[in-house]
Amino acid sequence: MTGTNGEPALDRFYAALDALVDHARNHLELDPRDGDWARNGILGRHGLASYRPTGAVSDGRGVDELVGDLLSCGVEAGLFGPEEAGSEADAVMGVLSARPSVLQDRFLAVERERGGMAAMRWFYRYCVDNTYVKRAQLDANPRFDSHGLVVTINLAKPEFKNMAKAAAGNAVAGGYPQCTICHANEGFAGRNKRTLRTMPVTLGGEPWFWQFSPYGYFTEHGICVNTEHTPMHVDRDTFVQLLDFVDRFPGYFLGCNAALPRIGGSVLAHDHFQGGGELLPMHKAPAWATLRLPAYPDALVEILDWPGTAVRVVSDSRTAIVEISDLIRRAWIAYDDPAADIASHDADGNRQSALSPSAIVTDRGYEMSLIFRNNAVSEAYPDGIFHAHPEYYPVKQEPIGLIEAQGLFILPGRLVEQLRTIEDALADGHDLPESVSEFSLIWEELNAALQGGNSREAIRAAIRDELGSICERILGNTAVFKTKEQTLEFMKGLGFGQ
Ligand SMILES: [Zn+2]
Repeated sequence: MTGTNGEPALDRFYAALDALVDHARNHLELDPRDGDWARNGILGRHGLASYRPTGAVSDGRGVDELVGDLLSCGVEAGLFGPEEAGSEADAVMGVLSARPSVLQDRFLAVERERGGMAAMRWFYRYCVDNTYVKRAQLDANPRFDSHGLVVTINLAKPEFKNMAKAAAGNAVAGGYPQCTICHANEGFAGRNKRTLRTMPVTLGGEPWFWQFSPYGYFTEHGICVNTEHTPMHVDRDTFVQLLDFVDRFPGYFLGCNAALPRIGGSVLAHDHFQGGGELLPMHKAPAWATLRLPAYPDALVEILDWPGTAVRVVSDSRTAIVEISDLIRRAWIAYDDPAADIASHDADGNRQSALSPSAIVTDRGYEMSLIFRNNAVSEAYPDGIFHAHPEYYPVKQEPIGLIEAQGLFILPGRLVEQLRTIEDALADGHDLPESVSEFSLIWEELNAALQGGNSREAIRAAIRDELGSICERILGNTAVFKTKEQTLEFMKGLGFGQ
């Protein structure tokens, strides 16, 4: 029998708990000497004054299944309501996760023995095993390649259209922690961050820390955060900091969003970088032209064959990377060209141009990609001239940040249902349904591509192709120079030659 006072339900809860404690011993660095202590902490949380050992083990089951078991048994036994399941899971896994200092010591030990990348991969595995990183959610997101880009539909992330919120900086109500990415979030129950663990890193001589993203957009996606709550900015030091990171973790990229609203990340109030364990399409984009600067014969700069405006500085020399990148940055943020709608400052003197850098290490040396961004608005484009244009809003209205500017698109989860409606209408030969009437452009283009009488498979392929094509056009909207020749002219103005 089950119920609030049912013993069998409690027995099942004990068994689920024993299995989870076993998982923590195997995967979460729980010292066997701390086993009883950890379990008692969880029993105490539920006001349980008794316990019967069941001998249950995790038996190779994944952590999501183990936690799911514990939650359903806890609800059945009346220990908490189903609406509390999320916070209960966070609390239990918070107790079973090691202290930050223990993990940081272990990380350094792995790094000493097998290098920085082995340590990062160990830490990522840890964050999946303690449920901070929702790996199953990432794997469930639709993802495909199209038009040289990676298109993903994020089922977990709420759509974020309000650009004013970015300027406000994701402040947390009540003022503690100061914002959503402050170090003070580590282990904080008030935001269900009991399982968050961070790893200190030193960048440009300053204390920063790395943490993986719970709802990552790609493999081993994380952010590197300044330990001090200080506003986003890109300057000469930024290039040094990015190089410090990839020197220590050469299998990761690390980049910085433009520190401006509409074209940057969602947290502008706190300095941070984004990176992770996957090369993004722009990192692999071919060069359209290769340039050099006489003062730096050991470096080359490539104009990328890419829908946005981007160049890539390549060199073995850190000095050359930093100096050339900063030369381009200083020139770009002061550049004006009214004929091309490029204004470095608005009428009130506020900066509108920014450079968004992203560093990797390859067999050619360091590669620093530099994306040119501008957040000017006009009467025709009140949300941004170099932002996705309104005809593409049904697909993507949110700011195009660093990850997307590099070719990995994160589209809103609502699209799954909307595209299914469109697919059904195409398969059945109906008109565009009223519920998705805003997709008229896509509908026309799909009909032109398909020309009737198609299999489901052909329709789905056409939809994927159409989404990739729209993302490519959105990147084209963000390009500040609409042709590569214009980029070449700009670079020649800085003294670069072919
Ligand atoms: Zn902060």
